[in-house]
Amino acid sequence: MYDYLIVGAGLFGSVFAYEANKRGKQCLVIDKRNHIGGNIYTEDIEGINVHKYGAHIFHTNNKQIWDYVHQFADFNRYTNSPVANYKGEIYNLPFNMNTFHKLWGSVTPNEAKQKIADQKKAANITTARNLEEQAISLVGTDIYEKLIKGYTEKQWGRSAKDLPAFIIKRLPVRFTYDNNYFNDRYQGIPIGGYTKLIEKMLASSTVRLNTDYFEEKEALDKLANRVVYTGMIDQYFDYCHGTLEYRSLTFDTKVLEETDNFQGNAVVNYTDRETAYTRIIEHKHFEFGTQKKTVITKEYPSEWKPGNEPYYPINDTRNNEVYKKYQTLANQEKHVIFGGRLATYKYYDMHQVIGAALTTVAKEFGE
Ligand code: FAD
Ligand code: UDP
Repeated sequence: MYDYLIVGAGLFGSVFAYEANKRGKQCLVIDKRNHIGGNIYTEDIEGINVHKYGAHIFHTNNKQIWDYVHQFADFNRYTNSPVANYKGEIYNLPFNMNTFHKLWGSVTPNEAKQKIADQKKAANITTARNLEEQAISLVGTDIYEKLIKGYTEKQWGRSAKDLPAFIIKRLPVRFTYDNNYFNDRYQGIPIGGYTKLIEKMLASSTVRLNTDYFEEKEALDKLANRVVYTGMIDQYFDYCHGTLEYRSLTFDTKVLEETDNFQGNAVVNYTDRETAYTRIIEHKHFEFGTQKKTVITKEYPSEWKPGNEPYYPINDTRNNEVYKKYQTLANQEKHVIFGGRLATYKYYDMHQVIGAALTTVAKEFGE
């Protein structure tokens, strides 16, 4: 008998397991995949830690969370500064004075601000009701057309007019020459990869891989007093209120034998609509690698269908309403804790998942 059956060996499940173990509880952690770590899983290929499910950069403003992850790994000084490739033109991201200078020749912040204000006025935007309007009101139409519209519409498979404004607010807009993609105080990549960090979190749990909860739910439920569920919430309730929509991705990873430096940066975004992938990741640059070869991954977005991996929740009005119905059902399921990106249908970053898991732990143990 276990105290907890944890469905999903991703970050949420692993933090919960670690904290429960620390409080003397026994955990059985299962995952349908053949590895631990969920989407932060990294694998050593040619001595390079490959982010198998897309670029993962740890960043947070919360000192407690930064200290927390340091129990499990040391972090390097990597600062994410992706560049955008629009039909061969290169721009710095996030949107900052380097971007404005390249695009308009703006030299001072006031020149750039004036340009944006003029474009916003010409587009006649007063309140931003969707991603397109939000983007134009933040950075003007030129940047929207070259660096946002194409990328966003292929990433989400929808018109930017049908997407929530908050998605674009993830990106800073700065009137300084600063290419740091994040505003957070702390940032880095765990030295040795994310999988090692998860291994440490799960060291005192029993882990069963290649185990799909729904294929043997009855038997698995009997093994523990309580369940922590981090899979898709609509699947848990057998889609009784309809399916939630997700965005899926396909990753095409290649070892390049003949070059040690393919693109000179860890992340290059392809922001035109025609290129089918959104970004190319060159993994060695996350850890300043000096290997003779390099490994790159192209990231192709696609609509989620049963059998695909659900990577991103699509938090538009319709989906959020359906989610609320599932949340009501979840609140009635007293022996089950729902957590993480899929079970709470939230576009969470890693630090937010850790924060949510620690809050859940405090509540569960009455602290
Ligand atoms: P997951 O990692 O999805 O783990 C859930 C686990 O549950 C999975 O392993 C799954 O196989 C398992 N599971 C599901 N259903 C079942 C079932 N029926 N039976 C058994 N097992 C099941 N965050 C950042 O902070 N910085 C970044 O740079 C960043 N980049 C990202 C890039 C991409 C492409 C994506 C998709 C996400 C990114 N994130 C980033 C977010 C980060 O991946 C998540 O916040 C984090 O991994 C979520 O952890 P989780 O445990 O909630 O979910
Ligand atoms: N985005 C964009 N152009 C870019 C990068 C991002 O338009 O070059 C938009 C796009 O809508 C994307 C959102 O900003 O979904 C958030 O970007 P982020 O890099 O945070 O996405 P993630 O890493 O979570 O996929």
